[in-house]
Amino acid sequence: MPKEQILVIEDEKDILSMVRLRLESRGFEVFTAESGELALQWMAEEHKPDLILLDLMLPGISGLEVLKQIRTNQNIAKIPILIVSALGEESDVVVGLERGADDYLSKPFNMSILMARVNALLRRSRPNSENKPNKEKKEDSEDFILLGPLRIDIKRYHVFVEDKQVTLTSTEYRLLLTLIASRGRVLTRNQLIDEAIGNESIVTDRTIDVHLTSLRGKLGSARNLIETVRGVGYRFRL
Ligand code: CA
Repeated sequence: MPKEQILVIEDEKDILSMVRLRLESRGFEVFTAESGELALQWMAEEHKPDLILLDLMLPGISGLEVLKQIRTNQNIAKIPILIVSALGEESDVVVGLERGADDYLSKPFNMSILMARVNALLRRSRPNSENKPNKEKKEDSEDFILLGPLRIDIKRYHVFVEDKQVTLTSTEYRLLLTLIASRGRVLTRNQLIDEAIGNESIVTDRTIDVHLTSLRGKLGSARNLIETVRGVGYRFRL
């Protein structure tokens, strides 16, 4: 199997070399760019990495602008992007996620967490994703999602935690399925509102938090599958 290629767009040389070292030691082929312009130029030369790590504060065009250009260029639009940004830039991170970044990690970060996020994103984007939720091997296997202690009967809208049924409101149920469908990705509150609730009613960020708190309370031992990403949104763990 050819090595998977990762493009790291980062202007801090120390971080760049640390990240490169770690990724290479895990068998990835690493390309680096110290500015968005250089990264876009490199990709315009028919290079198509499997994953992009994107810093937001860059010299020249910003990380958000780089993101926009990638997502609007159909040759490279589908490449998973992990934003790596300094603390205190949460509002930019939210914009980034809403413009199509897949996940986010704040600096300073722990290398093992970076590796876990990288692997999770690559797993999701591989063609025969091994990452699909485990399905029961029964004739009606398509009707169930199995994730740790959680079992969902999609046809009947039933949710079980450790084989005990829990009763969710329809909003909680939709939030849960939306998070599961994007497992491993951070979803901002706006994205959850759009995807799980729609715009038929006026919903605030606070409303989403209330639904999520209630949903978690009902999930018992499965509650930790839903992580809060401070200042940004929520993520369903893999
Ligand atoms: Ca930077």
